Amino acid sequence: MEPELTVTEASPEIITPDIEEELHRHECGVCGYIYEPSTGDVKRNIPSNTAFESIAADWRCPVCNAKKKVFADIGIAAKPSGFTENLGYGFGVNVLTPGQKNLLIFGSLALAVIFFISLYALD
Ligand SMILES: [Zn+2]
Repeated sequence: MEPELTVTEASPEIITPDIEEELHRHECGVCGYIYEPSTGDVKRNIPSNTAFESIAADWRCPVCNAKKKVFADIGIAAKPSGFTENLGYGFGVNVLTPGQKNLLIFGSLALAVIFFISLYALD
C-alpha cells in the first residue's frame, strides 16, 4: 500500500499575501515619492512585490530622478484593518475581575427588574 503524503504541501496562494505585507515602503527624500513594493515601478519595469532592497542600485526615483540612496525606509504599508490593534480591545468584559463581572450581571438584572416594575407602576 502507498501512503498518501500529499496533504501537507502549502499552497502558494496562501503564502504570497504574507510576503507582500512584510515588504517595506520607501519614501524619496527629495520629492516625497513613495515606492510601493506591492505595486512596483511600472515606469522602470520593476514588477509588483519587489522588495526595495532587491531593486538595482542604479534605479532612480521615477518622479525626480534622485538616487536610490536618498530613499528612506518608512516601514510596511498601513493595513486597512489591523487585527493586531484590536487584540487589546473587544467588549472590555475579559479584563474585568470576577467580582466586577457579578456586579455587571446582577446590576443589569436589577435594572431589568426595576424596568419591569416601572411598567406595572404606569397602570
Ligand atoms: Zn523623488
